[in-house]
Amino acid sequence: FKISRSDPIYVAGHRGLVGSAVWRHLHEHSYGNLIGRSHAELDLLDRAAVFDFFHTHTPAVVVLAAAKVGGIMANSTYPVDFISQNLQVQVNVLDAALEVEVPRVLFLGSSCIYPKFAEQPIREDALLTGELEPTNDAYAIAKIAGILQVQAVRRQYGLPWISAMPTNLYGPGDNFSPTTSHVLPAMIRRYDAARAAGDPAVVNWGSGTPRREFLHVDDMAAACLHLLRNFDGPQQVNVGTGEDQSIAEIAGLVSDAVGYAGETRWDTSKPDGTPRKLLDVSTLTDSGWKPQIPLSEGLAATVDWYRRQSTVRT
Ligand code: GDP
Repeated sequence: FKISRSDPIYVAGHRGLVGSAVWRHLHEHSYGNLIGRSHAELDLLDRAAVFDFFHTHTPAVVVLAAAKVGGIMANSTYPVDFISQNLQVQVNVLDAALEVEVPRVLFLGSSCIYPKFAEQPIREDALLTGELEPTNDAYAIAKIAGILQVQAVRRQYGLPWISAMPTNLYGPGDNFSPTTSHVLPAMIRRYDAARAAGDPAVVNWGSGTPRREFLHVDDMAAACLHLLRNFDGPQQVNVGTGEDQSIAEIAGLVSDAVGYAGETRWDTSKPDGTPRKLLDVSTLTDSGWKPQIPLSEGLAATVDWYRRQSTVRT
């Protein structure tokens, strides 16, 4: 697929973790006609406003990185928000993109679309073969609906739209809120605060035994551009490293990265979520792309970024 440096590329959600990384990556690769709108400028829940926007700008490429996202607690506490807002946002954007016949759309989801007990590593064809993990089923159903809508547009209109499902992402621009964030930013904040306060112990959620795979968001952004240029097919593409760690191992890495010397405890009244979700990334690697940022390096950079941010804010 030829994407020219002057093509108008709309990054929906360009202020978020993934969208901002995609924006930086495209900018660094000299794509000069990037279009982004903050939430205040364009509310993607406002269908008429989204259609107006598409009629005015007729993008050649859309990266749909706008979504309501959150960690295990946010997802299980506010399932209505996760299903309703995500369905509305993606239906509005995909319908408007179809109306103006955007040739290339990349729809983004997450590895939680796969069944809770999917065979590991999880291949793309495991989609819809079993029950979902209940702590994030509302979000997962919305994202599965998006994949199906992209496939339906391909079938009914022949447009080469694609979907990509990243594993757990982390990096600069993440949400570090203790209640709504994902595990890595939550732990960075917790261990860094404990180090600063000289606390003897920190308490993480769950048992520490679930396993998760982590990809730096700059790698995710590079994968997005790679897929837009090189991939075509109805099946969503897994994006990850192909390697995972236990949450307890992750806690050890974060503790070391922030220089914390105390103890780690586990609060098993908090949910563990799915036991494991390691992606099979052979579709992506066969297409000629692999991640570049090792977890230790990405983690150290994210700790630096977090500390700079918190100094700026306080
Ligand atoms: P998930 O991958 O959808 O389950 O999302 P999370 O990133 O929120 O959680 C991953 C795992 O980390 C789960 O097993 C959590 O129980 C565990 N975990 C441990 N401490 C924390 C924490 O402080 N915040 C979050 N979000 N998860 C934590």
